[in-house]
Amino acid sequence: ALIEKRKVEQTFIMIKPDGVARGLIAEIIKRFEQRGYKLVGLKMLVPSESLLSAHYGDLKDKPFYPGLVKHISSGPVVAMVWEGKAVVSQGRQMLGETDPLKSKPGSIRGDFSIDLGRNIIHGSDSIESAEQEIALWFTKDEIVNYTLPSHSQVF
Ligand code: ADP
Ligand code: MG
Repeated sequence: ALIEKRKVEQTFIMIKPDGVARGLIAEIIKRFEQRGYKLVGLKMLVPSESLLSAHYGDLKDKPFYPGLVKHISSGPVVAMVWEGKAVVSQGRQMLGETDPLKSKPGSIRGDFSIDLGRNIIHGSDSIESAEQEIALWFTKDEIVNYTLPSHSQVF
């Protein structure tokens, strides 16, 4: 029989220092777990400015860039890789808009933030940037391959 092998989608999610400082780690992980996504990478680190200049390279010319890098490198972040059906676009929906004031209640930013520069969480904005960000933040052996009994492939 022909078994169709689909590549399972992955996204990079990072709880920013303000999210960590406010005690929102468990709340954010809970939302992705409850939705049905699988955590396949997880670590806490204080990101270096060079890591952040690669991560936020496309924003280098923005006036808020120096403050952004200063803030994100100011303390620990929780870097994660989440896996599952349409997790890139659904992850962005779960985050809300970049501006917390434009984010709907029910979204992470809409429920927990009001400031653009303190919007508590990052999520990849496309499948392509997800692949780049995962490769930037994680080595291959830091991504765990396992099966959740409740997550057998259902299409
Ligand atoms: P997103 O995080 O939603 O993908 P961007 O990639 O456009 O948004 O920007 C990266 C981060 O830079 C945002 O999450 C936010 O914290 C910060 N940022 C974006 N725009 C502004 C702004 N106009 N003023 C201050 N900070 C901003
Ligand atoms: Mg972005």
